[in-house]
Amino acid sequence: MLRLRELKCHYHTPRGVVQAVDGVSISIQPNEVLGIAGESGCGKSTLLKVLYDYLQPPLRIVSGSYEADFPDGDGKVKTIGPGEIREHWWEFISYIPQGSMSVLNPVIRIENQFFDAVPKRHPLKAKGKEAIRERVAAYLKELELPIEVLKSYPHQLSGGMKQRVLVALGTFLHPQIVLADEPTTALDVVVQKGILLMLIELQQQMENTLVVVSHDMGVHYQISDRLAIMYAGKLVEYGPTDAIFNNPLHPYTQMLIQSLPRVGDRSQRVGISGRPPNLIDPPAGCRFAARCPKAMEHCAHQEPELIQMGPDHFVSCHLYGEVAS
Ligand code: SF4
Repeated sequence: MLRLRELKCHYHTPRGVVQAVDGVSISIQPNEVLGIAGESGCGKSTLLKVLYDYLQPPLRIVSGSYEADFPDGDGKVKTIGPGEIREHWWEFISYIPQGSMSVLNPVIRIENQFFDAVPKRHPLKAKGKEAIRERVAAYLKELELPIEVLKSYPHQLSGGMKQRVLVALGTFLHPQIVLADEPTTALDVVVQKGILLMLIELQQQMENTLVVVSHDMGVHYQISDRLAIMYAGKLVEYGPTDAIFNNPLHPYTQMLIQSLPRVGDRSQRVGISGRPPNLIDPPAGCRFAARCPKAMEHCAHQEPELIQMGPDHFVSCHLYGEVAS
């Protein structure tokens, strides 16, 4: 449904070129939940922006390709890419942004934010505001959200309700692909659970593709079918979520999983010391080498390739595969 091949997307800033997404290749399938995990600053949110075709300076695609299968009516599918995908925002692909507190327009009532989200080309737009209001009201009822929300301004809603409204906005036109950027960050655990349930129930009803970016491995464990781990702009491991949690291969993935709290386990959780490298001048070789407890001499100067280790399970690490001389 979405294919990325050796995609490199950089921010061209006055301080230098930030290599935020650097040579990422992955296929995203219909009707799957793909999780993208990693620390802050590893390129997850940039990757999501690129998937959404939200390419604004200083962010640019510098090489590689990105394409999507777009249903062109009568059962036909056409391949579209950056610059074209944005023409189908909301109905084909939608984006649930990070930070529910600040992304809704504070001076516009929620019902008008839904009205603005319906593109001019959509048949519902021609039916007018009242028809859209009725459709939104029915949708909110389906999602068990109070109808009073429609007349509210964002500041009158709690953080959890704002996030639910964003999920409703992003799914209202039943897009085939929903991209969610840290959808549960800054919410308490009870509200987080409600949002995750809402996202996953909607994905199951619509049988669409959900791509969720989160630094929280617990979120991915609960909802993702497949998981992609990013580190310093690179995809270092991806595969079925069960395979990743039962048999994490990359040392970074292993450390992310080890840092998760477990019921009944009182041992102290160990964090990952150090910080990701500066992506303006990333190190040669494996970008995780400075923090990796299993680093070998050649790791610092030879970049590992992504290799297949199991059914749809890939890793990029010199512990696996052969080292070129
Ligand atoms: Fe660690 Fe080397 Fe693997 Fe990088 S390539 S994760 S430094 S063992």
